[in-house]
Amino acid sequence: MWDVIIIGAGASGLMCAIEAGKRGRKVLVLEHAKRPGQKIIMSGGGRCNFTNLYVEPSNFLCDNPHFVKSALSRYTQWDFIALVDKHQISWHEREHGQLFCDDSAKQVVALLLNEAKDAGVKVQLQCEMLSHTKIADNHFTLLTKLGEYQCLSLVVATGGLSLPKMGATPLAYKIADQYQIPVKATRAGLVPFTLQQSQKEKFTELSGISLPARATCQVNNGTKKSKEISFSEALLFTHRGLSGPVILQISNYWQAGEKISLDLLPDLELLSELLHSQQSRPEQALKTLLSQRLPKRVVECLLAFAEIESLPLKQYNEKQLQEITQLFQYWSPQINGTEGYRTAEVTLGGIDTDLISSKTFECKNVQGLYFIGEALDVTGWLGGFNFQWAWASGWAAGQTV
Ligand SMILES: Cc1cc2nc3c(=O)[nH]c(=O)nc-3n(C[C@H](O)[C@H](O)[C@H](O)COP(=O)(O)OP(=O)(O)OC[C@H]3O[C@@H](n4cnc5c(N)ncnc54)[C@H](O)[C@@H]3O)c2cc1C
Repeated sequence: MWDVIIIGAGASGLMCAIEAGKRGRKVLVLEHAKRPGQKIIMSGGGRCNFTNLYVEPSNFLCDNPHFVKSALSRYTQWDFIALVDKHQISWHEREHGQLFCDDSAKQVVALLLNEAKDAGVKVQLQCEMLSHTKIADNHFTLLTKLGEYQCLSLVVATGGLSLPKMGATPLAYKIADQYQIPVKATRAGLVPFTLQQSQKEKFTELSGISLPARATCQVNNGTKKSKEISFSEALLFTHRGLSGPVILQISNYWQAGEKISLDLLPDLELLSELLHSQQSRPEQALKTLLSQRLPKRVVECLLAFAEIESLPLKQYNEKQLQEITQLFQYWSPQINGTEGYRTAEVTLGGIDTDLISSKTFECKNVQGLYFIGEALDVTGWLGGFNFQWAWASGWAAGQTV
């Protein structure tokens, strides 16, 4: 009989195992993949954006916005930075407070495995679950391809649905279902957009071009009042549509059928600039002026798309200058959808937090059953927030299991 079995040797599962092990609990981690922490290894372009200097509850999407507060305040970014420093992993800060390893994301996995080993945790890899858990006499029984295991506390840390090729499975939702714990509808998050065919063809020649942009969309929070959210980061044109950090960020808030607005000149009042230049340089061609601020191919492609001819500035009336401003500062691309779980970094939705304790992560209706990490209806922004949630929720459960 194990004190604790954790399903999933990812970010949250390993953190929970370490903390429970340090408390003297007999801990087993069951992982179906060949290697632990696969998403950590491929994260942040191989350098793992392991946390962020500016973590706030408002950086997370969850139907209950208060749910994240307790865990995030008990295990902070500073705690994880201290752990990284303890293991002498050198790191650097990038824009927006994002922290990355200098060398390799593998160092973060090694950190977790070393801590787990020191805490006496056993990690069993290539262990496939055959049947769902059953509760009897206050313990859980798990049937796996490697045999039967029993435990007092069961922690489900199997993450979300993104990157099925890396071993993502819906096991957490299935277990929740078994105990009548509601699961919020899931969809791909932090994911590139695909464009509708006609626009895709028109913009495919821009594939590979990156530029600073601001993306805005309406947030429908279930009430009549909807508010706007904006992100200012790099936009990347791809052969399928649009990507780059600004698109990944806004994708968390975008709902199918809704619009987003893109400002390709986020640091400029284009209309004032056009009106001013019309007076000071009336012979200057529109394309010349715009190409001083944007990649020339983007200017040509968008003007052609909107069927706006590049003329000397003096030849436009104010209404036309407004249309040009609309095109470059309020562009609403026709979004077909997202690239889906195949390329998404995270899964939006998941286990409803209403029946989960925000302090211990135990289910309120099933004693001894815990859900942590991305399996829950909690999704962070791009920038190290999802790992911070994994560390914080894993740490919190690790204090109780
Ligand atoms: C390409 C990519 C890059 C990312 N980069 C960043 C980044 O730089 N910064 C950041 O904050 N976030 C990043 N993320 C998001 C981050 O990886 C996740 O939010 C985080 O790993 C979630 O932790 P978790 O423990 O909930 O799940 P995971 O880390 O996904 O761990 C779940 C574990 O459970 C295992 N598992 C699944 N199903 C079963 C099953 N049926 N039986 C047994 N085991 C199972 C999986 O194999 C996996 O090991 C990235 C995600 C992706 C896909």
